[in-house]
Amino acid sequence: MHDDVRYVPVELSSDEVEMFYEGFANAVLWPLYHDALRPPLYDHHWWHTYQEVNRRFAERVCATAAPGATVWVHDYQLHLVPGYVREQRPDLRIGFFLHIPFPPVELFEQLPCKRSLARGNPRRTSLVSRPRPTPTTSPAPSSGSSAGNRPSTDFALTEARVDRGGLPHLDRCRRGRTDGPTPEVAARADELRQIIGPRRTLLLGVDRLDYTKGIDRRLMALYELLDQQRLSADEVAMVQVAVPSREDAPGYSELRDEVERLAGAINGRFSTIGGTVLHYLYRSVDSVELAALYRAADVMLVTPLRDGMNLVAKEYVAGHTANDGVLVLSEFAGAAQELRGGPPRESVR
Ligand code: UDP
Repeated sequence: MHDDVRYVPVELSSDEVEMFYEGFANAVLWPLYHDALRPPLYDHHWWHTYQEVNRRFAERVCATAAPGATVWVHDYQLHLVPGYVREQRPDLRIGFFLHIPFPPVELFEQLPCKRSLARGNPRRTSLVSRPRPTPTTSPAPSSGSSAGNRPSTDFALTEARVDRGGLPHLDRCRRGRTDGPTPEVAARADELRQIIGPRRTLLLGVDRLDYTKGIDRRLMALYELLDQQRLSADEVAMVQVAVPSREDAPGYSELRDEVERLAGAINGRFSTIGGTVLHYLYRSVDSVELAALYRAADVMLVTPLRDGMNLVAKEYVAGHTANDGVLVLSEFAGAAQELRGGPPRESVR
Protein backbone atom coordinates (compact mmCIF):
# COMPACT_ATOMS: atom_id res chain seq x y z
CA MET A 1 0.00 0.00 0.00
CA HIS A 2 1.18 3.53 -0.73
CA ASP A 3 -1.04 6.60 -0.26
CA ASP A 4 -4.04 4.26 0.08
CA VAL A 5 -3.26 2.67 -3.29
CA ARG A 6 -2.61 -1.05 -3.36
CA TYR A 7 0.16 -2.00 -5.78
CA VAL A 8 0.35 -5.51 -7.18
CA PRO A 9 3.80 -6.17 -8.65
CA VAL A 10 4.49 -8.31 -11.69
CA GLU A 11 7.95 -9.80 -11.34
CA LEU A 12 10.27 -10.11 -14.34
CA SER A 13 13.64 -11.83 -14.61
CA SER A 14 16.59 -9.89 -15.96
CA ASP A 15 16.41 -11.93 -19.19
CA GLU A 16 12.80 -10.94 -19.57
CA VAL A 17 13.61 -7.27 -18.99
CA GLU A 18 16.26 -7.54 -21.69
CA MET A 19 13.99 -9.19 -24.26
CA PHE A 20 10.58 -7.71 -23.45
CA TYR A 21 11.57 -4.17 -22.41
CA GLU A 22 14.96 -3.36 -23.91
CA GLY A 23 14.41 -5.60 -26.92
CA PHE A 24 10.85 -5.65 -28.22
CA ALA A 25 9.51 -2.48 -26.56
CA ASN A 26 12.52 -0.20 -26.93
CA ALA A 27 14.45 -1.56 -29.92
CA VAL A 28 11.45 -2.54 -32.09
CA LEU A 29 8.32 -0.58 -31.17
CA TRP A 30 9.89 2.66 -29.92
CA PRO A 31 11.92 3.44 -33.07
CA LEU A 32 9.20 2.17 -35.40
CA TYR A 33 6.50 4.27 -33.76
CA HIS A 34 8.76 7.33 -33.89
CA ASP A 35 8.82 7.30 -37.67
CA ALA A 36 11.72 4.81 -37.75
CA LEU A 37 14.20 7.55 -36.81
CA ARG A 38 16.51 4.65 -36.05
CA PRO A 39 16.11 1.36 -37.90
CA PRO A 40 13.95 -0.93 -35.75
CA LEU A 41 15.60 -4.25 -34.96
CA TYR A 42 13.64 -7.48 -34.80
CA ASP A 43 14.26 -10.75 -33.02
CA HIS A 44 11.51 -13.33 -32.70
CA HIS A 45 12.72 -14.30 -29.21
CA TRP A 46 11.96 -10.75 -28.13
CA TRP A 47 8.46 -11.05 -29.58
CA HIS A 48 7.83 -14.34 -27.76
CA THR A 49 8.96 -12.86 -24.45
CA TYR A 50 6.86 -9.76 -25.07
CA GLN A 51 3.79 -11.97 -25.46
CA GLU A 52 4.63 -13.99 -22.35
CA VAL A 53 5.18 -10.91 -20.21
CA ASN A 54 2.00 -9.24 -21.48
CA ARG A 55 0.11 -12.41 -20.66
CA ARG A 56 1.51 -12.36 -17.13
CA PHE A 57 0.36 -8.76 -16.64
CA ALA A 58 -3.07 -9.73 -17.97
CA GLU A 59 -3.32 -12.72 -15.63
CA ARG A 60 -2.46 -10.53 -12.67
CA VAL A 61 -5.15 -8.04 -13.73
CA CYS A 62 -7.75 -10.80 -14.12
CA ALA A 63 -6.90 -12.20 -10.69
CA THR A 64 -7.08 -8.77 -9.04
CA ALA A 65 -9.88 -6.78 -10.71
CA ALA A 66 -13.29 -6.70 -9.02
CA PRO A 67 -16.35 -7.74 -11.06
CA GLY A 68 -17.20 -5.04 -13.61
CA ALA A 69 -14.09 -3.01 -12.73
CA THR A 70 -12.45 -0.55 -15.10
CA VAL A 71 -8.94 -1.53 -16.18
CA TRP A 72 -6.71 1.16 -17.61
CA VAL A 73 -3.71 -0.20 -19.55
CA HIS A 74 -0.85 2.13 -20.41
CA ASP A 75 1.48 2.27 -23.34
CA TYR A 76 3.38 0.36 -25.95
CA GLN A 77 5.01 -2.06 -23.53
CA LEU A 78 1.58 -3.60 -22.82
CA HIS A 79 -0.13 -3.61 -26.22
CA LEU A 80 -1.43 -7.15 -25.85
CA VAL A 81 -2.82 -6.86 -22.34
CA PRO A 82 -6.33 -5.59 -23.28
CA GLY A 83 -6.83 -8.53 -25.65
CA TYR A 84 -5.62 -11.13 -23.16
CA VAL A 85 -7.73 -9.62 -20.37
CA ARG A 86 -10.79 -9.56 -22.59
CA GLU A 87 -10.41 -13.31 -23.33
CA GLN A 88 -10.78 -14.12 -19.66
CA ARG A 89 -12.88 -11.30 -18.24
CA PRO A 90 -15.74 -10.14 -20.47
CA ASP A 91 -17.19 -8.20 -17.52
CA LEU A 92 -14.39 -5.61 -17.33
CA ARG A 93 -14.28 -2.18 -18.95
CA ILE A 94 -10.88 -1.85 -20.55
CA GLY A 95 -9.16 1.35 -21.58
CA PHE A 96 -5.86 1.54 -23.42
CA PHE A 97 -3.73 4.67 -23.68
CA LEU A 98 -0.78 4.88 -26.03
CA HIS A 99 1.56 7.67 -24.90
CA ILE A 100 3.69 7.72 -28.03
CA PRO A 101 2.81 8.42 -31.68
CA PHE A 102 1.21 5.71 -33.78
CA PRO A 103 3.14 5.15 -37.01
CA PRO A 104 1.84 5.47 -40.56
CA VAL A 105 0.36 2.19 -41.79
CA GLU A 106 3.32 1.65 -44.16
CA LEU A 107 5.70 1.53 -41.23
CA PHE A 108 3.44 -0.54 -39.00
CA GLU A 109 3.16 -3.12 -41.74
CA GLN A 110 6.90 -3.72 -41.56
CA LEU A 111 6.32 -5.58 -38.31
CA PRO A 112 6.17 -9.33 -38.82
CA CYS A 113 3.78 -9.61 -35.86
CA LYS A 114 1.54 -6.69 -36.83
CA ARG A 115 -1.76 -8.61 -36.85
CA SER A 116 -1.19 -10.16 -33.43
CA LEU A 117 -0.13 -6.82 -32.05
CA ALA A 118 -3.19 -5.06 -33.42
CA ARG A 119 -5.44 -7.74 -31.93
CA GLY A 120 -4.21 -6.54 -28.53
CA ASN A 121 -6.97 -3.91 -28.77
CA PRO A 122 -9.91 -6.14 -29.61
CA ARG A 123 -13.33 -4.98 -30.73
CA ARG A 124 -14.56 -4.74 -27.19
CA THR A 125 -11.79 -2.60 -25.76
CA SER A 126 -13.98 0.18 -24.38
CA LEU A 127 -11.61 3.02 -25.08
CA VAL A 128 -8.42 3.42 -27.08
CA SER A 129 -6.67 6.73 -26.79
CA ARG A 130 -3.46 8.27 -28.03
CA PRO A 131 -1.99 11.73 -28.61
CA ARG A 132 -3.40 13.52 -31.61
CA PRO A 133 -1.47 12.79 -34.79
CA THR A 134 1.23 15.32 -35.63
CA PRO A 135 2.89 15.86 -39.01
CA THR A 136 5.08 12.93 -39.88
CA THR A 137 8.82 13.15 -40.43
CA SER A 138 8.84 10.00 -42.55
CA PRO A 139 8.72 10.25 -46.36
CA ALA A 140 5.18 10.77 -47.66
CA PRO A 141 3.74 7.36 -48.51
CA SER A 142 2.46 6.78 -52.00
CA SER A 143 -1.09 6.03 -50.80
CA GLY A 144 -1.79 9.75 -50.77
CA SER A 145 -1.71 10.22 -47.00
CA SER A 146 -0.10 13.48 -46.09
CA ALA A 147 1.43 15.20 -43.12
CA GLY A 148 -1.07 15.49 -40.30
CA ASN A 149 -3.55 13.30 -42.17
CA ARG A 150 -2.05 9.88 -41.94
CA PRO A 151 -4.23 6.82 -42.28
CA SER A 152 -5.34 5.62 -38.90
CA THR A 153 -3.71 2.22 -38.64
CA ASP A 154 -5.23 1.51 -35.27
CA PHE A 155 -8.74 2.15 -36.61
CA ALA A 156 -8.09 0.01 -39.64
CA LEU A 157 -6.66 -2.91 -37.73
CA THR A 158 -8.54 -3.01 -34.45
CA GLU A 159 -12.08 -1.59 -34.79
CA ALA A 160 -11.76 -0.33 -31.21
CA ARG A 161 -13.17 3.08 -30.39
CA VAL A 162 -10.60 5.85 -30.50
CA ASP A 163 -11.02 8.89 -28.32
CA ARG A 164 -9.11 11.94 -29.44
CA GLY A 165 -10.05 13.98 -26.41
CA GLY A 166 -7.76 15.87 -24.03
CA LEU A 167 -5.23 14.29 -21.75
CA PRO A 168 -5.23 14.10 -17.99
CA HIS A 169 -1.74 15.65 -17.92
CA LEU A 170 -3.34 18.99 -18.69
CA ASP A 171 -4.88 19.12 -15.27
CA ARG A 172 -1.46 18.91 -13.70
CA CYS A 173 -0.25 21.82 -15.83
CA ARG A 174 -3.32 23.90 -15.08
CA ARG A 175 -2.76 23.35 -11.38
CA GLY A 176 0.85 24.43 -11.79
CA ARG A 177 -0.28 27.65 -13.44
CA THR A 178 -2.40 28.76 -10.53
CA ASP A 179 0.00 27.71 -7.80
CA GLY A 180 2.93 29.90 -8.96
CA PRO A 181 6.53 29.26 -7.84
CA THR A 182 7.26 28.41 -4.23
CA PRO A 183 9.69 30.78 -2.43
CA GLU A 184 12.34 28.06 -2.69
CA VAL A 185 11.91 27.80 -6.46
CA ALA A 186 11.85 31.59 -6.90
CA ALA A 187 15.05 31.99 -4.83
CA ARG A 188 16.86 29.26 -6.75
CA ALA A 189 15.73 30.76 -10.07
CA ASP A 190 17.21 34.13 -9.03
CA GLU A 191 20.41 32.40 -8.00
CA LEU A 192 20.66 30.61 -11.34
CA ARG A 193 20.20 33.90 -13.18
CA GLN A 194 23.03 35.41 -11.17
CA ILE A 195 25.32 32.47 -11.91
CA ILE A 196 24.57 32.56 -15.64
CA GLY A 197 24.86 36.34 -15.77
CA PRO A 198 21.71 38.43 -15.41
CA ARG A 199 22.08 40.04 -18.81
CA ARG A 200 22.64 36.87 -20.78
CA THR A 201 19.70 35.18 -22.45
CA LEU A 202 19.29 31.73 -20.95
CA LEU A 203 18.31 28.90 -23.29
CA LEU A 204 17.16 25.62 -21.76
CA GLY A 205 16.74 22.06 -22.97
CA VAL A 206 15.37 19.28 -20.72
CA ASP A 207 15.08 15.83 -22.24
CA ARG A 208 15.76 12.20 -21.69
CA LEU A 209 18.84 11.40 -23.74
CA ASP A 210 16.82 9.84 -26.53
CA TYR A 211 17.31 10.14 -30.30
CA THR A 212 13.69 11.21 -30.71
CA LYS A 213 14.37 14.42 -28.76
CA GLY A 214 16.73 16.02 -31.27
CA ILE A 215 19.34 17.09 -28.69
CA ASP A 216 22.24 16.58 -31.08
CA ARG A 217 20.64 18.74 -33.76
CA ARG A 218 19.77 21.41 -31.20
CA LEU A 219 23.41 21.59 -30.16
CA MET A 220 24.51 21.67 -33.81
CA ALA A 221 22.16 24.64 -34.30
CA LEU A 222 23.67 26.41 -31.29
CA TYR A 223 27.16 25.77 -32.64
CA GLU A 224 26.24 27.18 -36.03
CA LEU A 225 24.56 30.27 -34.61
CA LEU A 226 27.67 31.01 -32.55
CA ASP A 227 29.97 30.17 -35.43
CA GLN A 228 28.09 32.50 -37.76
CA GLN A 229 28.17 35.18 -35.03
CA ARG A 230 24.41 35.42 -35.07
CA LEU A 231 24.64 34.73 -31.33
CA SER A 232 27.47 35.81 -29.12
CA ALA A 233 28.78 33.93 -26.10
CA ASP A 234 28.55 37.17 -24.09
CA GLU A 235 24.84 37.30 -24.73
CA VAL A 236 23.64 33.71 -24.42
CA ALA A 237 24.14 30.67 -22.26
CA MET A 238 22.41 27.34 -22.49
CA VAL A 239 21.61 24.65 -19.94
CA GLN A 240 20.96 21.21 -21.36
CA VAL A 241 19.68 18.63 -18.90
CA ALA A 242 20.10 15.20 -20.51
CA VAL A 243 18.49 12.57 -18.34
CA PRO A 244 20.21 9.16 -18.72
CA SER A 245 17.90 6.74 -20.48
CA ARG A 246 18.05 3.17 -21.81
CA GLU A 247 21.82 3.20 -21.66
CA ASP A 248 22.06 -0.42 -22.81
CA ALA A 249 19.60 -0.16 -25.70
CA PRO A 250 21.05 0.02 -29.23
CA GLY A 251 22.00 3.50 -30.38
CA TYR A 252 21.79 5.28 -27.03
CA SER A 253 25.45 5.22 -26.06
CA GLU A 254 26.40 6.40 -29.56
CA LEU A 255 23.96 9.27 -29.18
CA ARG A 256 25.47 10.16 -25.82
CA ASP A 257 28.96 10.17 -27.36
CA GLU A 258 27.78 12.49 -30.12
CA VAL A 259 25.97 14.88 -27.76
CA GLU A 260 29.01 15.03 -25.50
CA ARG A 261 31.32 15.60 -28.47
CA LEU A 262 29.13 18.52 -29.53
CA ALA A 263 28.99 19.91 -25.98
CA GLY A 264 32.79 19.79 -25.85
CA ALA A 265 33.06 21.42 -29.26
CA ILE A 266 30.76 24.28 -28.26
CA ASN A 267 32.50 24.99 -24.97
CA GLY A 268 35.98 24.44 -26.36
CA ARG A 269 35.40 26.92 -29.14
CA PHE A 270 33.14 29.56 -27.60
CA SER A 271 33.35 29.53 -23.78
CA THR A 272 35.69 31.74 -21.81
CA ILE A 273 36.99 31.26 -18.27
CA GLY A 274 34.03 32.28 -16.14
CA GLY A 275 31.82 32.47 -19.21
CA THR A 276 30.63 28.95 -19.99
CA VAL A 277 28.28 28.84 -22.96
CA LEU A 278 26.81 25.36 -22.51
CA HIS A 279 26.10 23.83 -19.12
CA TYR A 280 25.57 20.17 -19.92
CA LEU A 281 24.12 18.01 -17.13
CA TYR A 282 23.99 14.28 -17.79
CA ARG A 283 21.69 13.42 -14.90
CA SER A 284 18.20 14.10 -13.68
CA VAL A 285 17.57 17.09 -11.42
CA ASP A 286 15.16 17.30 -8.51
CA SER A 287 11.78 18.97 -8.81
CA VAL A 288 12.87 22.28 -7.20
CA GLU A 289 15.88 22.58 -9.50
CA LEU A 290 13.77 21.74 -12.53
CA ALA A 291 11.07 24.29 -11.66
CA ALA A 292 13.80 26.90 -11.00
CA LEU A 293 15.40 26.18 -14.38
CA TYR A 294 12.03 26.62 -16.08
CA ARG A 295 11.52 29.94 -14.23
CA ALA A 296 15.01 31.20 -14.99
CA ALA A 297 15.08 30.30 -18.68
CA ASP A 298 14.21 32.97 -21.24
CA VAL A 299 13.87 30.43 -24.02
CA MET A 300 12.84 26.80 -23.72
CA LEU A 301 13.95 24.62 -26.61
CA VAL A 302 11.65 21.63 -27.16
CA THR A 303 12.72 20.36 -30.54
CA PRO A 304 11.99 16.65 -30.84
CA LEU A 305 12.04 14.95 -34.21
CA ARG A 306 8.96 13.01 -33.10
CA ASP A 307 7.28 12.97 -29.69
CA GLY A 308 3.93 11.67 -28.45
CA MET A 309 3.17 14.69 -26.28
CA ASN A 310 6.12 16.28 -24.45
CA LEU A 311 5.31 17.36 -20.93
CA VAL A 312 8.39 19.55 -20.60
CA ALA A 313 6.84 22.04 -23.06
CA LYS A 314 3.70 22.27 -20.95
CA GLU A 315 5.60 22.49 -17.68
CA TYR A 316 7.62 25.42 -19.01
CA VAL A 317 4.46 27.25 -20.05
CA ALA A 318 2.92 26.53 -16.64
CA GLY A 319 5.96 28.17 -15.02
CA HIS A 320 5.61 31.38 -17.05
CA THR A 321 2.14 32.64 -16.32
CA ALA A 322 3.23 36.23 -16.93
CA ASN A 323 4.11 35.44 -20.55
CA ASP A 324 7.75 36.21 -19.77
CA GLY A 325 9.27 33.29 -21.61
CA VAL A 326 9.56 31.91 -25.12
CA LEU A 327 8.82 28.30 -25.99
CA VAL A 328 10.39 27.02 -29.19
CA LEU A 329 8.26 23.98 -29.92
CA SER A 330 8.72 21.45 -32.68
CA GLU A 331 5.63 20.79 -34.76
CA PHE A 332 6.49 17.10 -34.38
CA ALA A 333 5.62 17.07 -30.67
CA GLY A 334 2.04 16.20 -29.73
CA ALA A 335 2.01 19.28 -27.46
CA ALA A 336 2.17 21.47 -30.58
CA GLN A 337 -1.42 20.46 -31.38
CA GLU A 338 -2.52 22.08 -28.14
CA LEU A 339 -0.09 24.94 -27.49
CA ARG A 340 -0.94 27.01 -30.52
CA GLY A 341 -1.25 30.50 -29.06
CA GLY A 342 1.71 32.84 -28.73
CA PRO A 343 2.18 35.58 -26.18
CA PRO A 344 1.95 39.22 -27.29
CA ARG A 345 5.35 40.08 -28.77
CA GLU A 346 6.04 43.03 -26.46
CA SER A 347 5.79 40.82 -23.40
CA VAL A 348 8.69 38.60 -24.52
CA ARG A 349 11.94 39.57 -22.85
N1 UDP B 1 11.84 15.29 -15.60
C1 UDP B 1 12.23 14.96 -14.32
N2 UDP B 1 13.53 15.16 -13.95
C2 UDP B 1 14.46 15.67 -14.80
C3 UDP B 1 14.05 16.02 -16.09
C4 UDP B 1 12.73 15.81 -16.47
O1 UDP B 1 11.40 14.50 -13.51
O2 UDP B 1 15.62 15.82 -14.39
C5 UDP B 1 10.43 15.07 -15.97
C6 UDP B 1 9.77 16.28 -16.60
O3 UDP B 1 9.32 17.14 -15.58
C7 UDP B 1 8.65 15.63 -17.41
C8 UDP B 1 9.20 14.24 -17.71
O4 UDP B 1 10.38 14.07 -16.96
O5 UDP B 1 7.47 15.53 -16.62
C9 UDP B 1 9.52 14.07 -19.20
O6 UDP B 1 8.32 13.92 -19.89
P1 UDP B 1 8.21 14.21 -21.45
O7 UDP B 1 6.80 13.95 -21.84
O8 UDP B 1 8.72 15.59 -21.77
O9 UDP B 1 9.21 13.19 -22.15
P2 UDP B 1 9.40 11.60 -22.03
O10 UDP B 1 10.64 11.41 -21.20
O11 UDP B 1 8.15 11.03 -21.37
O12 UDP B 1 9.61 11.12 -23.44
